[in-house]
Amino acid sequence: MRPNLRVSKKRIVRTPGGVRVKRLKKKTSKAHCGECGAVLSGVAFGNQSEVRKLPRSRRLPSRVHAGYLCPECLKKKIKAKVRSI
Ligand SMILES: [Zn+2]
Repeated sequence: MRPNLRVSKKRIVRTPGGVRVKRLKKKTSKAHCGECGAVLSGVAFGNQSEVRKLPRSRRLPSRVHAGYLCPECLKKKIKAKVRSI
């Protein structure tokens, strides 16, 4: 099994033809900041099919670079950018 799918849970599904097939429930891990590596809060994780069903406002915070940078790193980046002008 591929290492990044080891957290996935196996479940047995019956296909329309009556055959029992092993299927994997893919789970994603918590998102981390691209700068400092801190766990991002407010970003949905876990079962991908469940996450896609959530409204957009519950999947990601509504701010620039949400899901990539933590608020502290974003603050630092904006300040650095403004000061360089
Ligand atoms: Zn950060």
